[in-house]
Amino acid sequence: MLIHCSLIIQDLTAARPNTRSLRSCVMTKQENDEYYVCVKNSMYPTIKSYKLTMLQNIYRNFIKEGKMGLEFSEPRQALLIVCEDKNLLYMFYRQIKNIIDGNNVIISTRPMPKRVPSKNEILNRFHPSTMYFVANSHFDNRILNMRFLSNLVLEDCDLPTIPAQVGYLPVKYLSITGSKLPTSKNEQDVFWNFISHNTISYTLRTLKMDSVGIKKLPFEIFFLINLETLSASNNSLAYLPHFLGNLRRLENLFVADNLLVYFPHILSCRTFKEIDISNNSFQLPKSLMFDHITNYLQIFGNSEKGSFELDIKPLSHLAFFNLLHYWIPFKRQDIPRNLWTYFEVVGRCMLCKKWILPEYSRITHTFALPSAISTIKDHTINGIPWQALICLNSYDCERRF
Ligand SMILES: [Zn+2]
Repeated sequence: MLIHCSLIIQDLTAARPNTRSLRSCVMTKQENDEYYVCVKNSMYPTIKSYKLTMLQNIYRNFIKEGKMGLEFSEPRQALLIVCEDKNLLYMFYRQIKNIIDGNNVIISTRPMPKRVPSKNEILNRFHPSTMYFVANSHFDNRILNMRFLSNLVLEDCDLPTIPAQVGYLPVKYLSITGSKLPTSKNEQDVFWNFISHNTISYTLRTLKMDSVGIKKLPFEIFFLINLETLSASNNSLAYLPHFLGNLRRLENLFVADNLLVYFPHILSCRTFKEIDISNNSFQLPKSLMFDHITNYLQIFGNSEKGSFELDIKPLSHLAFFNLLHYWIPFKRQDIPRNLWTYFEVVGRCMLCKKWILPEYSRITHTFALPSAISTIKDHTINGIPWQALICLNSYDCERRF
């Protein structure tokens, strides 16, 4: 990753600090499993490299103002960076942090620019080969030209829509944290269409949607089969849909500061890397009188009861089970609206693992803590309820004894 900045290099062994700031290119580089920060400016026209294993401190307190410091133990020097593109500097910081945390970071192999551009030169942020992009305030359609885009940060933006064509970009990391999502129903209905594309549904590994004011997760998340990290903290989620169990690679789940009262049982047998469930409203199972499934049954359950007694499934149920079976991403407008609701309540039978809707199941709860290498929770919580569905009729249950 490359940033253009003003840079002061201070020699920490010198008696008097250097305060001379130079226009510089600063870049991360990987060579033979070793990561470096490289500097090019008028003092080092042939590039000066610092090993990241020698990084002693990162000073990031003023990163929102576009300032960051890197202190190295060998050589004993500090790089004081001032970058006009604050969001880009933040991405740069994140990349360095990921490297020193031992995460496998893939670094583009672009060469250092031939010359350091002066301060007033306009840099083309919208270059088609851009891999990291941080939006300032809104979605710019030029993003759609970035055919190699891997990290897309749309934080604190006004986001009435995300064009569906974003789904054709190989985005691995998407954050819409803190953004203002649409408020009108029509806009909300089409907002998640970009997920329903084959490209992004395979490439997306991290989806961050903290503090966006949502009450439920969009069912299009079901299509993200390689998703590893889902972060939806500080929203108004009252439940997590059972279909999350289908995301077999999901290993980091951050849902702090919501209104959750239970978790879907299908996630109880999984060991997460990191999970944050703090500041929710988990209750004891016996007090779970009202939940989204009970609500659903009150509205839809009784009116169609007659047909269940005859063991004839409504056509809409059959159509829905077919959608789950074939797992082909689609836009929600392509299916009738009542099928949207089924995604919110469908689960797998705890015993035979087949998909069932609440009409065909009884609900039960177990009580335990999630299994994770690192768990963040309220200290008073000793366990959370796990909601499970079980086939209502034992002869329907395909459990093999
Ligand atoms: Zn069953």
